[in-house]
Amino acid sequence: MQYQSTRGGAPLLGFRDVTLAGLASDGGLYVPTSWPRFSREDIEALKGLSYVETAVRVMAPFTAGDLSEDELRALCEQAYGRFSQAAVTPLVQLDHRHFLLELFHGPTLAFKDVALQLLGLLFEKFLTGSSEPLTIVGATSGDTGSAAIDAVAGRHGVDIFMLHPKGRVSDVQRRQMTTVLAPNVHNIAIEGSFDDAQAMVKALFNDRDFTGRFRLSAVNSINWARLMAQVVYYFYAAVRLGAPAQKVAFAVPTGNFGDVFAGYVAARMGLPVERLIVATNVNDILHRALSSGDYSAGTVTPTAAPSMDIQVSSNFERLLSDLAGGSVAEQMAGFESSKAMRLTNAQQEGAAKLFSSDRITPEEMNETMRWAHAEAAQVIDPHSAIGLAAARRAELPADVPVVTLATAHPAKFADAVERATGVRPSLPARVGDLFDRQERYDVLPGTLDAVRDYIAERAKPRT
Ligand SMILES: *Cc1c(COP(=O)(O)O)cnc(C)c1O
Repeated sequence: MQYQSTRGGAPLLGFRDVTLAGLASDGGLYVPTSWPRFSREDIEALKGLSYVETAVRVMAPFTAGDLSEDELRALCEQAYGRFSQAAVTPLVQLDHRHFLLELFHGPTLAFKDVALQLLGLLFEKFLTGSSEPLTIVGATSGDTGSAAIDAVAGRHGVDIFMLHPKGRVSDVQRRQMTTVLAPNVHNIAIEGSFDDAQAMVKALFNDRDFTGRFRLSAVNSINWARLMAQVVYYFYAAVRLGAPAQKVAFAVPTGNFGDVFAGYVAARMGLPVERLIVATNVNDILHRALSSGDYSAGTVTPTAAPSMDIQVSSNFERLLSDLAGGSVAEQMAGFESSKAMRLTNAQQEGAAKLFSSDRITPEEMNETMRWAHAEAAQVIDPHSAIGLAAARRAELPADVPVVTLATAHPAKFADAVERATGVRPSLPARVGDLFDRQERYDVLPGTLDAVRDYIAERAKPRT
């Protein structure tokens, strides 16, 4: 499989190089040059398969050329063996038409583990035999950081520098990052928002001098391998609900547009998806973009669903490029200079075929947590509640089951859950004595220079 940049100015790469590179050298994001297609029979053949076998079938076309099917299977067995449920991503029925797809049974309690446990192993596999150290630089609104750190802590040949917005992640999220004391883990709290942190990471990747000195890689959802791993659970869930004969809709609590873009990929591959419901909180750039074509970044409002407190959704570029049928270099350059752009008519109409969107207020989020608890005996986290609120309000044919992606374990956001429902979810035993462990992190001002200097002093240069 070959991959091309959404901005058309970077070399075509295979899966291994795309995984190690993260961002394309022209500032764009890598996407496959064409989508693999699954026939009805191919989807039919997924019935009854385990999560790992489904993962191998769905991902094999994307990794072809760089991993054999047996190698891919071995990596999936190792990655998903660390999940606490045999189903990896179990489906829970809420009422006659609504389901939750629980994606939080990995080591750090959010859906990011599904992709990052695999990505950590892919890095290790692809770096074997290479003497060039890898420097992972990432920005996190909370969950990517903990999942990525868990996936690479102590691994040979890799250093990870993770930026989080100071004071804007939950205590559990922060501690899951800062209590990992492996010497290759470097946590940085920056004064600013997630968008500020993400912009700094992008700037470092575009800094020729810096990338000449250090071999950078990304664990954010700009890394194609992450999205690839997330395509799997759309197939897994839909097949369990009767695909390919039955169409299924998905509601996705969205921030960086990674998770829901994976659903779009599943649809492009042939999965019968009735609709993808993009659910945002009050940080609603995606809702505005999809409902009126206005993609303009406002300021970030901190909420009880911090992993969605994002105004610039990196992966939206992948959709815009797919809908435009090629490079969006000009459109993105316009956005980067003015922080605003309009979708073209073709992009708006193309998106409307599959996507709808909704903006959920804090009151609606809390009300939905209460509904799930009272009516379906499920304690759900604020992010999942935003997805479910949008799912329950969506207008869809009556015979279509609606799957809400439950993206975090409620205990990760215990205060917000308790405020809404009166129930305080407890941390599962597998996270252990998180609150008794020592923390280690540095606080930096929100300037690119400070972050660049910090990393340059600590990272291992190219050989
Ligand atoms: C990251 C995250 C999201 C948003 O996912 P995107 O892929 O960025 O759209 C939603 N909920 C939780 C709990 C998350 O960690």
